[in-house]
Amino acid sequence: MTARILDGRALAATLRAEIRAKAESLGYRPGLAVVLVGDDAASAVYVRSKDRAAREAGLDARTIRLPAETTEHALLGIVAELNADDSVDGILVQLPLPPHIAARPVIEAIDPAKDVDGFHPLNVGRLQDNLPVLTPCTPRGVMKLLALSGVPLAGARAIVLGRSGIVGRPVGTLLLAQNATVTIAHSRTKNLAQECRRADVVVAAVGRPEMVRGDWIAPGATVIDVGINRLDDGRLVGDVAYQECLPHAGAITPVPGGVGPLTIACLLENTLIAAEKKRERKQGLLF
Ligand code: NAP
Repeated sequence: MTARILDGRALAATLRAEIRAKAESLGYRPGLAVVLVGDDAASAVYVRSKDRAAREAGLDARTIRLPAETTEHALLGIVAELNADDSVDGILVQLPLPPHIAARPVIEAIDPAKDVDGFHPLNVGRLQDNLPVLTPCTPRGVMKLLALSGVPLAGARAIVLGRSGIVGRPVGTLLLAQNATVTIAHSRTKNLAQECRRADVVVAAVGRPEMVRGDWIAPGATVIDVGINRLDDGRLVGDVAYQECLPHAGAITPVPGGVGPLTIACLLENTLIAAEKKRERKQGLLF
């Protein structure tokens, strides 16, 4: 058996085209404000990609670049201004922040209706309760790839490797909402390989290069690799040993070109959703 490759780039391009068409039908360009504090090289690359993708999808994107010495107070002031700015539908503060700024108060200061990262506690809580919500972008992308794989989730055994608040736990919640039977594994989980072998769906989000080996994968299982790891030789690999898993899996995502492009497309989708909800609120259709 050779696995079907789930092409995240192609799916993201389709999604961006849909977002562009919907944004045009709104009658105004939904606004996305990305705030970047400091000069973390990887963050700067992510922010440039987000800005470019947002413009291509017809959004009104702006990036606010602040020096590394910006105080938490000043950053909170900027978030408050963006909250009050009617031309801004989505706000994303790029993480990580410099060490002197605590992320939690900044995340909690963002208007939940503009929280396109889905990290505000109100959105986290709504997700737990299976209510319509701005879903965190990477978990949303994972679910889109699973839908593309065609794997029936209801009744399936799914294992999520990793329990972070931005990936593992929300992916587990979304899988549960689709009626999968979910195991969330972490660094203390015993017999991880054995747990994986029982799963119809494996989602790896651990940040350990190629940790998931070929013999961890049940024949025909769907494998979604969230990991992005840069090796010493410069290669970019996921958390899954891709070549080893290909002969076992039924469907698998590559790295790069799997979950990554979907994460950005889902950020744009969240901005569109926030804009649509704002319009409904203004028209008195939503309370
Ligand atoms: P994180 O916050 O560091 O969480 C890692 C999780 O993996 C933790 O829950 C940890 O368990 C678990 N873990 C670590 N080593 C393990 C092991 N040996 N066995 C089992 N579980 C283990 O990472 P994250 O932010 O969720 O990101 C995970 C990966 O996804 C990273 O490679 C990151 O770069 C990538 N990522 C990609 C995207 C994208 O757009 N494609 C977006 C976000 C993140 P404990 O809780 O017990 O410590």
